[in-house]
Amino acid sequence: MYEGAIQDLIDELGRLPGVGPKSAQRIAFHILSADPADVTRLATALRKVKELVRFCTTCYNVAESEQCRICRDPRRTDEVLCVVEEPKDVVAIERTGEFRGRYHVLGGAINPLEGVGPDNLRVRELMARLSSGEVKELILATDPNTEGEATATYLALMVKPMGIAVTRLASGLPVGGDLEYADEITLGRAFEGRRAV
Ligand SMILES: [Zn+2]
Repeated sequence: MYEGAIQDLIDELGRLPGVGPKSAQRIAFHILSADPADVTRLATALRKVKELVRFCTTCYNVAESEQCRICRDPRRTDEVLCVVEEPKDVVAIERTGEFRGRYHVLGGAINPLEGVGPDNLRVRELMARLSSGEVKELILATDPNTEGEATATYLALMVKPMGIAVTRLASGLPVGGDLEYADEITLGRAFEGRRAV
């Protein structure tokens, strides 16, 4: 539709999640008319996120060194491990201030329709962590939707024979939703009221 660089930018923006063709066009023209310093800052942030951010070698949360801040924190307990789908879920749970254990980020949820099975998630890495025997409780904090429930059910079946208590967040979370959209109070309550599965 447009020529050269502006169309390239619209095409790239349009590939981002949640950005339709109209939004892509609006953002592209906003950037075109924005202050050059603001655009440079955006470009730098884009470049740096790929250069500097990597995944924690223990929990697979985002990190800027070998281990993330949570794994490095000696004040947290190793006895409770909370399984989440994505790094953004770690942020949501941290905001509640209810949890002092460690995390394990799966990198998604089981979704047969999209060809995502346990082998595509960091399940093997989770089992390796649990085999050390330090973890006494595993909290399944996958999203309250079909894929999240399927993942929680699968993990519960795998982990219970190891003699580890397995719990799931209490109901009250918006069903079908994303953990990250739950407000802090609802998520905090769901944490406190978690039940054995
Ligand atoms: Zn970590």
